[in-house]
Amino acid sequence: MIQDRTMQNLWGAVDELRQRVEELENGGTPLVMELDYVASMTSNRKTFHLRGCKFTEGFIAVEGGYFQFSSHDEALAAGLVPCKRCGA
Ligand SMILES: [Zn+2]
Repeated sequence: MIQDRTMQNLWGAVDELRQRVEELENGGTPLVMELDYVASMTSNRKTFHLRGCKFTEGFIAVEGGYFQFSSHDEALAAGLVPCKRCGA
């Protein structure tokens, strides 16, 4: 059972998102999406990782040096295989 307060918080978050989208449409600052799956652009290993995996430390520091995916399936669709260490 969802508490009323929880629903209020949810709707508050939705309103905030709507405002951000409006800002965006009006040429405001770009909305930064938090993407959780990353893969190196330069590595020969076609693996993807969860952001924060130890193996991402080298390439994550290079801006534009890695691919980002918003879902496990999206990374798979790009032909990558999940990292065994972080269980991406
Ligand atoms: Zn990993």
